[in-house]
Amino acid sequence: MAGNWKMNGTSTRCVELAHAVRAASDGVAAQVIVAPPATSLAVVSGVFAGSPVGIAGQNIHWAASGAFTGEIAPGMVAEYAGFVLVGHSERRQLFGETDDDTNRKVHAAFDHGLAPIICVGETAAQRAAGATDTTVAGQLFAATDGITAVEVERIMIAYEPVWSIGTGAACDPAEAGRVAGLVRGSLEVAFGPGAGDVRILYGGSVGPANVRGYLAHEDVDGALVGGASLDPAAFGALVRAADEAA
Ligand code: PEP
Repeated sequence: MAGNWKMNGTSTRCVELAHAVRAASDGVAAQVIVAPPATSLAVVSGVFAGSPVGIAGQNIHWAASGAFTGEIAPGMVAEYAGFVLVGHSERRQLFGETDDDTNRKVHAAFDHGLAPIICVGETAAQRAAGATDTTVAGQLFAATDGITAVEVERIMIAYEPVWSIGTGAACDPAEAGRVAGLVRGSLEVAFGPGAGDVRILYGGSVGPANVRGYLAHEDVDGALVGGASLDPAAFGALVRAADEAA
């Protein structure tokens, strides 16, 4: 169960949230991950010291260092985190990130010991045009181009239909599971049977009331949650649902 806090929370607020997540995750079998803002990675990692809760960066640049004002190098994130979100639709749509950028970030993540959580998903227009599967497969193959069969086993894929993110218009669980199955099958064809175990998350308006529908599908291993991850009670309920499913 992964929570993406996006651009929310001063360090003080993030520490409070992190303490709540730590308490909610105590003794659960499910893997829990939080993605705080970059400015709070250090303090949040302190809260989770000695805890199995994983920490993710929300974004990285692909270069190891250099004249990229305002960017965050993968090694800077790797000081505090084991994971990094790559290709989130907000990065693609609001900041013009391309499939090629996403692929470079995936390689940079591996080069610095970070496991990428690769986000893919179609827009409403692409779905209406019947292009859901080709869009998702295209983003998937572009993002994973050139990675090895060993590396693929460390990635997670978040299937996040763009029209469902932050809108309350959650995807039908059967459809989310169908696309997750497509992702799994495509990875197996491209990388071999080991890729069949890649963890696939659904993301898009997930909350305590609908999460079990997604987790019940055999190809959906968890959820990437935005809005509800900022509410400690809601995220605690999501962690419990993931634990039941685990
Ligand atoms: C997200 O941003 O990855 C997301 C799924 O957001 P929300 O849960 O708010 O739809």
